[in-house]
Amino acid sequence: MKILKLFFCLLVLQSCHKKKLTEVVEVPLPTAQETTKIGNPNDVNAVEGTFKLLKLSYNYDAFEPSIDARTMEIHYSKHYVNYLNNLNKAIANTENQTKSLEELLINLDVKNEDLKNNLGGVYNHNLYFESIGGKKNQIPKDTLSGAINKSFGSFENFTSVFKSTASKQFGSGWTFLIITKKGMLEVVNSQNQDNPLMPNAIVKGKPILAIDLWEHAYYLNYQNKRNQYIDAFFNIINWENIARNYEESLK
Ligand code: MN
Repeated sequence: MKILKLFFCLLVLQSCHKKKLTEVVEVPLPTAQETTKIGNPNDVNAVEGTFKLLKLSYNYDAFEPSIDARTMEIHYSKHYVNYLNNLNKAIANTENQTKSLEELLINLDVKNEDLKNNLGGVYNHNLYFESIGGKKNQIPKDTLSGAINKSFGSFENFTSVFKSTASKQFGSGWTFLIITKKGMLEVVNSQNQDNPLMPNAIVKGKPILAIDLWEHAYYLNYQNKRNQYIDAFFNIINWENIARNYEESLK
């Protein structure tokens, strides 16, 4: 009988122990709301310097589901701001702080890696954040539409050239639509933060549209499916801004 009692006590103890273990692992997790809370682009600040933060004309969630809000927030408030701060730091108290981004790109010493990466990083992201926005599923109109037809035959053909060029970019980089010296439009890729205005560009030209192909631009939503991000980018291109860039370049 004593043995039976002892056995019963052990059983009770063990069940208490199990309960305790269960309680220990019940750590309060962040609520769904807390994990998806997205900031406001107007609250982002950069360190004071020559070049200023490009203000966005949209919120981070403006492109859902083509680009998710979290990706937009990290891209703008972390990656972009970091390039901008580093560029301003690199040119502070040098003769470069009186020049425009374009002048700096054209006259760049490409062996200066720090300046090259941050200068390209700022210019390319300024263009990227202006390449998207406005009404969804726009198509180019008027002068720009004519230029696209002249250089690519049709808008459909341009789209297919752009997408296939972007899909062939190996590793981190960009795809741009540029105006060449001859006034034609061309689609070109660049590695890392390089840019078609830099002296090392194989095909030089003035970029008017850019897609960021770094993983930070799409990975949270698309993972390895980069081509789906490239397809989705076409739904959110701001063709009014691209047309403005094109017309300004003709002046
Ligand atoms: Mn980027």
